[in-house]
Amino acid sequence: MYEQRLKSVREQMSALGVGTLILGPGADLRYLSGYDAHESERLTALIVPHEGPPDLYVPALEAPRAASARAELRVWTEYQDPLDLVAEAVRASRSDTIVVGDHLWSRFLIGLQERLPGVNWRLAAEALAPVRVLKTSEEIELLRRAGAAADAVWHQVLRLDVEGMTERALAARIAALLEEQGLDGAAFTTVAGGPNSASPHHAPGSRVISRGDTVVVDYGGPLDGYHSDITRALHVGPPDAETQRVYEAVREAQQRGVEAVRPGAKAGDIDLATRSFLESEGLAQYFIHRTGHGLGLEVHEPPYILGGSAVELQEGMVFSVEPGVYIPGNFGVRVEDIVVVTQDGCERLNNAPRELAVL
Ligand code: ZN
Ligand code: ZN
Ligand code: ZN
Repeated sequence: MYEQRLKSVREQMSALGVGTLILGPGADLRYLSGYDAHESERLTALIVPHEGPPDLYVPALEAPRAASARAELRVWTEYQDPLDLVAEAVRASRSDTIVVGDHLWSRFLIGLQERLPGVNWRLAAEALAPVRVLKTSEEIELLRRAGAAADAVWHQVLRLDVEGMTERALAARIAALLEEQGLDGAAFTTVAGGPNSASPHHAPGSRVISRGDTVVVDYGGPLDGYHSDITRALHVGPPDAETQRVYEAVREAQQRGVEAVRPGAKAGDIDLATRSFLESEGLAQYFIHRTGHGLGLEVHEPPYILGGSAVELQEGMVFSVEPGVYIPGNFGVRVEDIVVVTQDGCERLNNAPRELAVL
């Protein structure tokens, strides 16, 4: 699996005329080496030359964790300067163009640039994104299982007595449920009650969930690094007619977006499908974000489902379809599922009920 990934990335590098790839901790590094490195002031970097095995530079104290990485370990001690070591290796590779991962801290990049004058620097996304965006059946299976675990958590949330809980307490409960479902933990849990639901990325706080609230819940966690991401909403007590109307409009917009997904469609077509329906309901001005984002080793990654995007959807792409309506000071709702593009359409990786749950 890692050999295939390396081969595909190297094909991209050749096409770009690039000699060496340098990645800091993050999804790209994990994708190519299997090592889930953590960010630190001590440099961890994967150096992928045009030929031969990649080198993984790690500080001595991280070496035990990095032992199973698919790379040659280059362990540096507290008394060495890792940037000197990396610069030396890059010089030896005689590359005049280097691609650098988005996650390499600028202090490391600037340090390398000082040591390697006269080299062209480019972003690694050009070489990695086209490979990572097409998921293999193994990756899709992990995403499918992560999605099913997130669905199971929603069924459990519906059995909780959320009235009287703080947003923060419900978020903590959901995080625990994600772990009980076998995920590696929660990557994020947004719980937004009442007027807070009008903020799409609201940070759960001390507000108590009360009767009459619309509560938007958006959460996910990874399985072997591959994420889930679902949004559902509930209402404490029966919703009024306007809340119900807005909710149903968002649900229908999401349905239309999902139905538009197929190979050959443009990312912008999916955005148009959701947005034009909300437009017809007089709600488009409250839909303040793109329709979706790719999902894999990162919660947000290409392809982005953005209005006007000409990115062509291909079998194996995985992304969210998540229109929302946010009426400031009042309330908001969103419905989000992950889909995978199949030969003739798409498969939803979330199948929990999409109705506004009334508790
Ligand atoms: Zn989001
Ligand atoms: Zn989400
Ligand atoms: Zn999302």
